[in-house]
Amino acid sequence: MPHQNLINGQWVDALDGATDEVLNPATGTSIGRVPSSGAADVDAAVEAASTAFETWGRMTPRARSEVLHRVADAIEADLPTLSRLEMENCGKPASIIEFEMDLTLDNWRFFAGGARFLEGRAGGEYLDEHTSFLRRDPLGVIGSIAPWNYPLNMATWKLGPALAAGNTVVLKPSELTPFTALRLAEITSDILPPGVLNVVTGQGETAGDALVRHPGVAMVSLTGSVETGKVIARTAAETLKRVHLELGGKAPVIIFDDADIEAAVACLVEMSYYNSGQDCTAPCRVLAGPGVYEDFVAGITDAVAGIVTGDPFDEATAMGPVISADQLARVTGMVERAAAAGAEITTGGSALDRPGFFHAPTVVAGPAQDSEIVQREVFGPVISVQRFRDDETALAWANDVDYGLSASVWTTDVGRAMRMSAALQFGCVWVNDHIPIVSEMPHGGFKQSGYGKDMSIYAIEHYTELKHVMVKH
Ligand code: NAD
Repeated sequence: MPHQNLINGQWVDALDGATDEVLNPATGTSIGRVPSSGAADVDAAVEAASTAFETWGRMTPRARSEVLHRVADAIEADLPTLSRLEMENCGKPASIIEFEMDLTLDNWRFFAGGARFLEGRAGGEYLDEHTSFLRRDPLGVIGSIAPWNYPLNMATWKLGPALAAGNTVVLKPSELTPFTALRLAEITSDILPPGVLNVVTGQGETAGDALVRHPGVAMVSLTGSVETGKVIARTAAETLKRVHLELGGKAPVIIFDDADIEAAVACLVEMSYYNSGQDCTAPCRVLAGPGVYEDFVAGITDAVAGIVTGDPFDEATAMGPVISADQLARVTGMVERAAAAGAEITTGGSALDRPGFFHAPTVVAGPAQDSEIVQREVFGPVISVQRFRDDETALAWANDVDYGLSASVWTTDVGRAMRMSAALQFGCVWVNDHIPIVSEMPHGGFKQSGYGKDMSIYAIEHYTELKHVMVKH
C-alpha cells in the first residue's frame, strides 16, 4: 500500500515532502510514515473532487449504487488486510476487530442501497397554473475529517452517505491512524472514478484546517472531540459552509433497584472496556440505585479485574492499549485526580508496566457529581459509579453534563423506562442494553456532542440540499 496521498486517482507525496511518523500503540514503535500535507495538497485534492463532482453528481442513483456495492465487495475481499492494519495501527484485539469490520461492511451495503431512496414530500399544484416539486441535490465537495478510535468505520460513516448522495470527498484521516483510509483508497482506486474519493493525510491544524477553510468545500464533516468541533464550527463560519459534527460523549448508565444487575455487569464489563473504552458511546458513567449500588460495585469490580489485557494479536486478549502516550497520560491523570478528590479506585487505577500505551481497566466508585471524572470524557478504560437516592436525582445527574450522545436505562418497569427515555437529553437511549448499533438507525448527538446524524437515511439527507422547482404552465 502506498504511504502517499491519493489525489485525482494518483498517489503523490506532500508537495513539500513533509511526513509524519505513525506508531503501533501496543509497542510504541514506528510502523511507517505518511505525508504531512499542507494547504497546497488540500487545494489539489479539492480541485480534483470539484472536477469529479460534475460527473459523479449527475449519475443516476442506480449507477452510483452499483459502484458503491462494488466498493463494499472490495472491502469484503480485503477484510483480512484491513483488519490487520487496524489492529497494528490502533492496538485493537483480534477478539473485537471482526465486529467492527462486519459493521463497516454492512454500513457500505446500506449506503449503496440508500443511494436509491432519497425522497422529497409530494409535489403538486400549490398555486394555480404552477407545478412544484422537490429535488434533493448533492452539495458538491465534502471535507471529511475522521478520528482515530475506529478509523475505517468512522471514515465509512462519512464517505458512505456523502458518496451515495452524489457528492465527492476529500478525506483526512487522523494523523495517528491513516493506514486503513489509504488501503481503502487503494482497493477502490479502480472502482471509484478519479477524484471522487481523495485521501490527504496530515495534522489537524494544517491539513484539516486547510480543508475547513477551503472555499471550494461545501460542507465539513468531523468526528472528533468537542474542542475540535468548536474550532471547526468557528472556522467554517468564515465561508458559511455547512458543518456536520459527531463529537464526544459521557454516556450515563442508570441502573434502578429493580434492574437485572447481572445483566448490567455482563454488558458493562464488555462494552465499557471495548476498544479500551475509546468509544464515544461507551457506558462510562454509572448511576446506581441505593438498593443495588453495593452489589453492582462488587460485581463490576470482580468482573473488570478479570479482563485480559495485553497483546492485541493474542486471541485471549480482550483489551489492548490506548492509542498514544498523550492519551495514556490523559487517562492516568484523570484517574489520579479522581482518587485525590476522594473517589475509591476499586480495581485498576494505573498504567501497566510494559511497552506500549496500556492502562489497567479501572473502576472509580463514589465520585462527586461535579468532579472531573464525572463531567469530562476520559476516552479510556475507566468507568465511574455513583449512588443516586431517587429517580429525580438519577435523571438530573444523567442530564447534568455538556455531552448528549447516548445513555442507557436499566429497569424492569416499562413505565419508568418510557419516562426516562423521554426525558434523557441524548441522541440514543437504550433500555436494558448499551451499545448495539444498526445501519438503519441514526447515530448523533444532542447538546455539545454535536449535530447531524451518521448512519440511516437521515445521514444521506444531511449530505443533500432540498431544492424547490416551480414550473408555470
Ligand atoms: P480530535 O478532535 O483530536 O481529532 C479528530 C480529527 O480532527 C483528526 O483527524 C484531527 O487531525 C482533526 N483536527 C484536529 N484539529 C483540527 C483543526 N483545528 N482543524 C481541522 N481538523 C482538526 O479527536 P480524536 O482524539 O481523533 O478522537 C477522539 C474524539 O472523537 C473523542 O472525543 C470521541 O468522543 C470523538 N468521537 C465521536 C464519535 C461520534 O460519533 N460522536 C465517534 C468517534 C469518536
